[in-house]
Amino acid sequence: MALDQDCIFCKIIRNEIPNTVVYEDNVVKAFLDITQGTPGHTLVIPKTHVPDIFAYDADLAAAVFSRIPKIARAIKASDPAIKGMNILNNNGKVAYQSVFHSHIHLIPRYSAKDGFGMRFTDNSAHYTPEKLQKIATQIHQQFSAD
Ligand code: AMP
Ligand code: ZN
Repeated sequence: MALDQDCIFCKIIRNEIPNTVVYEDNVVKAFLDITQGTPGHTLVIPKTHVPDIFAYDADLAAAVFSRIPKIARAIKASDPAIKGMNILNNNGKVAYQSVFHSHIHLIPRYSAKDGFGMRFTDNSAHYTPEKLQKIATQIHQQFSAD
């Protein structure tokens, strides 16, 4: 378990700063996000300092992400008003990552007007099948480098 001396979430793992834990085991810690985007908004973090999704190996990913469903179920079961959940993982400043210790947001949803929002843009009119294939091929080719 490699922790970073200056990382705020590593400090939360070491309980050097206050946190409100909802679940913890040898692999992850889950605690309430200080902003509470909706009530019960929880962050799940690996108990090792890994900056973002690009830095996970398969074993760490398997261990961390395998915990998500049971934590999500516990949050949902904690309040009958919770009707659904958005699960988000921001990677890079451009993608709204502000803490560079990887974390997964579990955001309980109560209604369409519970204050949480996401916007997906439909750009399908600008993409021919050929253009889609070109993008897919460029991505697909990267796997041979593995
Ligand atoms: P992101 O923007 O995806 O990097 O999310 C970072 C999240 O960490 C934000 O939602 C913050 O509210 C949350 N956060 C930052 N510091 C703390 C803290 N000390 N305790 C709980 N949540 C925190
Ligand atoms: Zn860290």
